[in-house]
Formats: sequence, C-alpha cells, structure tokens
Amino acid sequence: MRTIGLLGGMSWESTAVYYRRINESVRDRLGGLHSAEVILHSVDFESIVALQQAGAWDKAGAVLATLARNLETAGADCVLICTNTMHKLADIVQSAISVPLLHITDMTGQAVRAAGCRRPLLLATRYTMEQDFYLSKLRETHDLSPMVPNTEDRTAVHDIIFSELCCGIVREASRQRYLEVIATAKAAGADSVILGCTEIGLLIGAEHFDLPAFDSTLIHADAAVAFALDRHDAPQRSAA
Ligand code: GLU
Repeated sequence: MRTIGLLGGMSWESTAVYYRRINESVRDRLGGLHSAEVILHSVDFESIVALQQAGAWDKAGAVLATLARNLETAGADCVLICTNTMHKLADIVQSAISVPLLHITDMTGQAVRAAGCRRPLLLATRYTMEQDFYLSKLRETHDLSPMVPNTEDRTAVHDIIFSELCCGIVREASRQRYLEVIATAKAAGADSVILGCTEIGLLIGAEHFDLPAFDSTLIHADAAVAFALDRHDAPQRSAA
C-alpha cells in the first residue's frame, strides 16, 4: 500500500471527513483491521484565511509548497490539498514535489463527465466561483459548461462556508438557502451540482435535491485510496 499525504486543516472539519472516508474505504477493500497509511499536516486555518483575505496567494503558495515537500520527505507517495480553494496554488505545490499531487478539480471533473453530466452548478467559496483556476479547468480539461450562482447567492454560499461550516455549525436555514440556489440553477439549465468546497457535504447531499451531486471531498478521498491500493490505476500528474 502506498502512503497518502494530506495537506489538511482547511478546515479541519472537512479534513476529518477525508480521514474517515479514506480509512473506511481501505477497510472495505482490504477487510480485517486494515487501514490507510496516511501522513497528515493540519494547519492553523486562521493563518491561511488571513493570507486569502489579504490576497497574499504567493505567500500561501510558499507555505503549502513547504508543507507538501515535508510530506514527501516524511514518506508520502502522493499529496492531496484537502480544499478546493487552495488548488489555486496547485501548480506551485506540484512543482515543489516529485510525487503526484492528486488534483481535486481533475478528479471531480472526471466524475461529472463519467456520469454523463455537462452543465454542473458549482457551489464553492467566492474564490473558487469567481476566479478562473477552477472553472477554466472544468471547461478546458473536462469539456464541461459549469454554472455559478448570481452575486447575491455567491455571497450567501461563501459566508455560510466560512462563518458556519468551517466552524462546525450546520443550520437548517442555511441548508434551505443552498437548496434555493440549486433550484434557481436547475430552472436555468443546471444538470448536476458540484459540491466544490470540502465542507459543503456537511450541509447538503444528494438526498436533499433531485440533481446528481458530486461531492469533491468524497471523490478526492476515493482517488487517494485508488492511488494507494491500485498500482496499475494511478492517476497521472495533473496537467497545468
Ligand atoms: N474547504 C474549502 C474549500 O474546499 C474552503 C476553505 C479554504 O478556503 O481553503 O474550498
């Protein structure tokens, strides 16, 4: 079994989901008392959020690159950045290490296409919904036509992530707000929903609405298990 390196803590609420999913999958696949070989570096999220808010993406990239290198030195055979947003810095991180970075957008885009969907609604942080790093990959690498909510709805989606989900708060009113956003997108032609922030699965899932749901956290964690266990099925290094 290969060793999975997790760059987590962004937020730890979702990193806990990764850790559980990865270990449950390995136990299901191998049985008995098997569990995953995992090395986790979990950051103090407040310091990362401060860099995001200041627009200091270069500094954040340098921090993540150093931590990824440390994971490789410690024995990780792959690295996962356990947040969609910080994949803005994926190229910087990948260039700092010689093991593969399993790219959350690639894994998610592949899952959407494999299911035959083409026009997913992307729910994510403001950074992910409004900047180009994620949407352009879905468009250009995966030939999808993603939609994002309108300005007011993007604000609601973003604020619920940072002031509630990342703090472990799950409110029914916020679930209803997300469901409104999804209903609006469905009426406008969305054929599926990408939960493109690793905490969103704490609030909503396929059981709450009638479009296919692609939870980036679970897809990403499953890709890590495939990499760890399936030597002949290893994802390729992500293209820029
Ligand atoms: N976990 C979130 C994501 O998947 C947001 C936290 C962050 O800004 O990194 O984008």
